[in-house]
Amino acid sequence: MNRRTKIIATIGPASDGEATLREMMRAGMDVARIGLAHGSLDDGLDRYHRIRSVAASEGRRVGILLDLPGPKVRAGSFGEAGLDLPTGATVDLAVGQDKSTVEVIEVDYEGLLTDIHIGDRLTVGDGGAILEVVGSGPDRLAATVSHGGFLRGRPGIHIPSDRLSISTPTPTDLVAADAFVEAGIDMIAISFVRSGHDMRRVGTEPHPKGPLLIAKVETRAAVDNLAGIIEASGAVMVARGDLGNECSIEDLPHLQKDIIRDCIAGGRPVITATQMLESMVTSPSPTRAEASDVANAVFDGSSAVMLSGETAIGADPVNVIRTMSRIAARADDEMDHEAWASRLTELHMTDDEGGSASVTDAMTMSAWRATEELGVRTIICISGTGFTVRSMARFRPSARILGFSTNSATVQQLTLSWGTTPMSMAINGTNEEMVVEAIRQAKAAGEVHAGELVAVLAGSDSSSRSANVLRLERIP
Ligand code: PGA
Ligand code: MN
Repeated sequence: MNRRTKIIATIGPASDGEATLREMMRAGMDVARIGLAHGSLDDGLDRYHRIRSVAASEGRRVGILLDLPGPKVRAGSFGEAGLDLPTGATVDLAVGQDKSTVEVIEVDYEGLLTDIHIGDRLTVGDGGAILEVVGSGPDRLAATVSHGGFLRGRPGIHIPSDRLSISTPTPTDLVAADAFVEAGIDMIAISFVRSGHDMRRVGTEPHPKGPLLIAKVETRAAVDNLAGIIEASGAVMVARGDLGNECSIEDLPHLQKDIIRDCIAGGRPVITATQMLESMVTSPSPTRAEASDVANAVFDGSSAVMLSGETAIGADPVNVIRTMSRIAARADDEMDHEAWASRLTELHMTDDEGGSASVTDAMTMSAWRATEELGVRTIICISGTGFTVRSMARFRPSARILGFSTNSATVQQLTLSWGTTPMSMAINGTNEEMVVEAIRQAKAAGEVHAGELVAVLAGSDSSSRSANVLRLERIP
């Protein structure tokens, strides 16, 4: 079994010890996610340095993703033991962030009284409880609980995104982004984006010099403006938790498929996130529905599947990763690679006729054809920014991709790419020198073997703006 779909695991109190991180990496964590929704910036940076040092001591390439919370609204704490909010009850909502009870829920959003109107529907937790706003007073709103639920800690409160008067990224997000860029973060995810413009407001250098920017699609507006968001982003996340609040639940599985398909066509890695193995927060094995969800996310074409609470606060983060890895690897084995490529040829092809992107498009298609025709099992891509590798991955080929780059930021960012083993290359030379060196390294790492036929995709020289040479080489 050879897993192609990457695994992202959120690091939290249950997983930030060195021994646990080490085991999580060995179990198959490709990317570690640091959320800033809980805890301070300094805690986040500590976590970042700890992950880097464990990865280095393990000799593993693990990407690190910073997830900026954006205008995420939370309730004051319901306590660790939690409270039951019964259906039919009435409850007041007040601005604050201390303590919530069944009588008064505090909400850490200054615009609560002005932005929320009578008749609005607020969801507490990822589908935990639903409130209908029925009245407003000078310092609070009144709501009825149309669906009750059990609430614990500080759950998020979903406010319809067209009501939110604050935009994303928030000033706090931008401060955190700066600190993490300084520290060398590989990827940054932006929450609640509504347009490509929100992504551009992050203002970091384009990747690979800056981080790979990931748009979290979790608002209605983001679904409507998807093309512009894909254009402005390095990767995309189908953030099902909040998206499930913004759209009808029966639409969610289809939105997931549509978003993934458009991202693949655009050569952007795409992540399926939230509640994938939710029951494993407490259980040693997942529900049957969850196992199917992970496998189906693989069939949908996800570049990566993500764990949130399962690894951040769950009972056994290492077991969760092992379980997800087994389910994803098995689904990868069953994936219909051929069907993907033929769908893609109908979908993709850039409008950049004759430009460097269309040259790479045509070359990756040739590489896909040649490898399918000859039964080649490894495609070596030598890429500066990672563009060629991501282009190749669009075909979801049955051959594995070895993604080589002399740029170490690119190599780190390739941890998110479907079917790709990121490889760092020390020399930058002519096409001949690079190809010989990549083959030597791949062989030394045990990735390819003497006598095997491989495809190598690279630029004709170090200044080529696109991969314009395809070679079929037998490993010496
Ligand atoms: P979150 O994003 O976990 O930061 O809310 C993911 C989601 O909404 O699904
Ligand atoms: Mn979210």
